[in-house]
Amino acid sequence: MADPHGFQKYTRAEPAHRPVPLRLLDYREVYEKAPAGQIEEQAARCMDCGVPFCHEGCPLGNIIPEWNDLVRQGRWKEAYDRLHATNNFPEFTGRLCPAPCEGSCVLAINDDAVTIKNVELAIVEHAFEKGWVEPVKPTFDTGLTVAVVGSGPAGMAAAQQLTRAGHRVVVFERDDRIGGLMRYGVPEYKMENRWIDRRIAQMEAEGTQFRVNSSPRAAELALYDAIVLATGTPVPRPLKVEGADLDGIYPAMEFLTAQNHVNEGDINTTPIDARGKKVVIIGGGDTGTDCFGTALRQGAASVTQFDIRPRSPFTRAETTPWPMYPNLFRTATAHEEGDYLITGDESADEIAALGLASRNPASSMGERRFAVNTVSFQGEQGHVTGLIANQIRIVAGKREPIEGTEFPFEADLVLIALGFSGAEQGGLAHDLGVTFDERGRMIRDNEYRSPTNSRVYVAGDNGRGQSLIVWAIAEGRACAAAVDADLMGETALPIAVTPQDAPLSV
Ligand SMILES: Cc1cc2nc3c(=O)[nH]c(=O)nc-3n(C[C@H](O)[C@H](O)[C@H](O)COP(=O)(O)OP(=O)(O)OC[C@H]3O[C@@H](n4cnc5c(N)ncnc54)[C@H](O)[C@@H]3O)c2cc1C
Ligand code: SF4
Repeated sequence: MADPHGFQKYTRAEPAHRPVPLRLLDYREVYEKAPAGQIEEQAARCMDCGVPFCHEGCPLGNIIPEWNDLVRQGRWKEAYDRLHATNNFPEFTGRLCPAPCEGSCVLAINDDAVTIKNVELAIVEHAFEKGWVEPVKPTFDTGLTVAVVGSGPAGMAAAQQLTRAGHRVVVFERDDRIGGLMRYGVPEYKMENRWIDRRIAQMEAEGTQFRVNSSPRAAELALYDAIVLATGTPVPRPLKVEGADLDGIYPAMEFLTAQNHVNEGDINTTPIDARGKKVVIIGGGDTGTDCFGTALRQGAASVTQFDIRPRSPFTRAETTPWPMYPNLFRTATAHEEGDYLITGDESADEIAALGLASRNPASSMGERRFAVNTVSFQGEQGHVTGLIANQIRIVAGKREPIEGTEFPFEADLVLIALGFSGAEQGGLAHDLGVTFDERGRMIRDNEYRSPTNSRVYVAGDNGRGQSLIVWAIAEGRACAAAVDADLMGETALPIAVTPQDAPLSV
């Protein structure tokens, strides 16, 4: 039973973010640890609703009010058990999820939502500190083999569930490390890659085998009893305007991946360096915003993010909770860093504390512009020097340029962050006979099975289209249950989402 007065006693409070001038000096996570007692108080704000809308918001089916109440009482181990029952990787969602559960929280009808995501992160980190997160080794061996292709959150979740169900699971990853977009897309200031490594160690101890630098062929996979394709949507959506092939214009993922390789220690400097450059990011979503924070950290002279969408007229309070949820105007932490002038005034102690020898005092400015459409790029000697854009407005649900608003804008590094156009259609998918819909997504039935190859299952962004980590984990878990049921005739693995389930926002 929750504290019925908790939300009256405590207002919403979140752990602080590291000061902008300091965090721009490195790629460490921006979040500070919550002060002692804060998480318990925040958990006490949960009303344990009769109809908890937060459940509807979360595709994992997290039992949120139960773990909130356990945390309130300081019963962390039980809270961890409840959390882990529905989410294999709360340390990923606790850092990276936009928290549709909070968008759905009933308390947000006339107050601020419960800080569900922070409570989730605190539970799992507490569990790691206490040594409660141990390998869950399977109690029997089915002797059956499953190949999981792709090691993003969908592949990792499917692999962990299937290994624990007693199958012999091999994860094939063509990159040099495990983690998918969480590793090489998401910058470390949002989530440090060591948390992925920590989870991989648990999975290896449970018996999951990982093969990196490995792009299996259909013939190799024929040896397996089932194949889970969790290959994501790696094909970037291009910007088809004049001049888009000039040097200095890159897909966002190339830029982000290169910096992540620097952070991993693979290379000393990034081949796409924003230092001292006038950077323009085309695209206002997650990926563009991650470029924004990364370019500021690299010491760009200026960073401007163009979003084709108009600035939302709504505040969070006006659009929360579900069912109005969530036409939200979200602000990523990187946007706290825009408009911030780095003067080089950081003290020598501050710089030394961060282990840095010195800092380039060049000023970095970040700015977001809304309702901007890119018309063309201009260049000199084959290299981009700027672009022409105009303002747009929405008429009858369609974007149209506003006459007379065309403007030039200087740029010597342009990052295209327009999302992804779907799953890869050639290669392995083709050889396995997988089919695709008109949006480039792999077709699967309601049990995640390819209708054209009954040994092949599809989970994550490659079937859903580009989405969120929480959906990838939910799909990976549910897909594992479908595989297990087909291999064994029955399954005890949980299914929280089907391929047809859509986020509440749609
Ligand atoms: C820059 C960026 C930032 C993001 N930030 C967030 C965020 O903050 N919060 C959030 O919830 N979501 C975020 N997302 C979305 C999120 O990362 C994805 O929805 C999620 O990672 C999808 O998981 P997945 O397992 O389906 O695919 P991916 O994570 O894309 O993993 C697919 C893996 O399959 C591998 N692969 C592909 N083909 C083959 C093959 N033939 N053989 C072997 N391996 C193969 C790829 O190398 C890759 O490692 C972000 C996305 C991007 C691009
Ligand atoms: S909707 Fe909010 S207040 Fe209600 S149970 Fe869920 S987290 Fe608690």
